[in-house]
Amino acid sequence: MKRAEDLDVAGRTVLVRSDFNVPLDGTTITDDGRIRAGLPTIGELLARDASVLVCAHLGRPKGDGYAARAAGGPSLRPVADRLAELLGRPVTLASDVAGESARVIASTLAPGEVAMCENVRFEAAETSKDDAVRGELAGRLAALADVYVGDGFGAMHRKHASVYDAPLLMPHAAGQLVLAEVAVLRQLTTSPARPYVVVLGGAKVSDKLAVIGNFVGLGRGGGVRASLGRGGGVRASTADRLLIAGGMAYTFLAAQGHRVGDSILQADQIPQVTEALADADKAGVEVVLPVDHVVADRFAADAEPEVVHGPDIPDGRMGLDIGPATRDLFARKLADARTVFWNGPPGVFEFPAFAAGTLAVAEAISHVTGLTVVGGGDSAAAVRHLNLPADAFTHISTGGGASLEYLEGRELPGLRALEAGS
Ligand code: ADP
Ligand code: MG
Repeated sequence: MKRAEDLDVAGRTVLVRSDFNVPLDGTTITDDGRIRAGLPTIGELLARDASVLVCAHLGRPKGDGYAARAAGGPSLRPVADRLAELLGRPVTLASDVAGESARVIASTLAPGEVAMCENVRFEAAETSKDDAVRGELAGRLAALADVYVGDGFGAMHRKHASVYDAPLLMPHAAGQLVLAEVAVLRQLTTSPARPYVVVLGGAKVSDKLAVIGNFVGLGRGGGVRASLGRGGGVRASTADRLLIAGGMAYTFLAAQGHRVGDSILQADQIPQVTEALADADKAGVEVVLPVDHVVADRFAADAEPEVVHGPDIPDGRMGLDIGPATRDLFARKLADARTVFWNGPPGVFEFPAFAAGTLAVAEAISHVTGLTVVGGGDSAAAVRHLNLPADAFTHISTGGGASLEYLEGRELPGLRALEAGS
């Protein structure tokens, strides 16, 4: 993959596809980690006298046509303002994605100046399954600039116009964030130091079954999947231990015949989970499930937390965090790890009364000597709010779905496009 630093950019306009899909509370950014992660590439291009035009998406605009989507938002305005603060220079925001406003702004950008296109998902074509529809938007984006730098790692698993089609139309290279993310994921997939402990949490087991299949070594259909080579696509190394918590743990506990009360449960996934447990058993992967819980009678920040001892949860109660015995158990299971991958918070950390499990896991991982990687948008936001020392983890990934798909051994379209012809 060509690096942005190898491109000739002085005096040229560079279209930088970033992942600035930050969590918002109204128009307030609640975690700007993804914007900060994009600064090195943008800063380096500006230092080399490029004009930088940033393309990014935010949220999930809805509506049939461009006008409806643009009216409904969200606008990238708060992102452009935050980027300007962090860069210490103005960032002009076009009023459209790749229309008249973006064209005028792009053509008048001077070296060292920064502008942004509006939320690329205002264009329904961005996410279209139709190559020609995406291609038309990609053509308009490509016409705005001379070269393309892909730095939005968190969107690399999407075959979208600005991620996949646009780079194929112009000279292109990978930005520093993408190169850093891929380097870490390669370490996880190429003979990780052992014990290799994986902690998975989050809301839904269905999001993570495919990656679980890889961590337990067999996966549905059995057999080792061939290395896919380009665009990532190396099969995840089997874990030695898989610690399962968060909402997904209840489907595992239900699969083992435990009562889960009103906890979030994906009953339709029980057969797949049962199969994953059997695969883990055959492959000798130790699966560790919660042995106690912090529960409440409703899903709310002010709900009264109660500890339930043992794996079963009574009717009328829902599990919202792992309990104290599980926190200790997980810490013991992490203590001798030499490689850790953590994706998904083990509890509803957004509610302070149910955040102890997430804090305990973060602290236990911070004591591990070796490669420690946190992936997932919510997990990354959670650990940044914990104020742990800066070196608590080797790497906090900006990619949730993208990291998981890489570890699943799937090819990431955005990486494939950046690798094409370079
Ligand atoms: P990530 O973005 O890190 O990949 P996910 O998006 O998979 O993580 O899941 C994050 C969400 O999971 C959080 O909003 C958290 O509140 C929720 N969650 C964790 N534990 C539970 C639980 N026991 N019940 C319901 N939701 C949970
Ligand atoms: Mg998430």
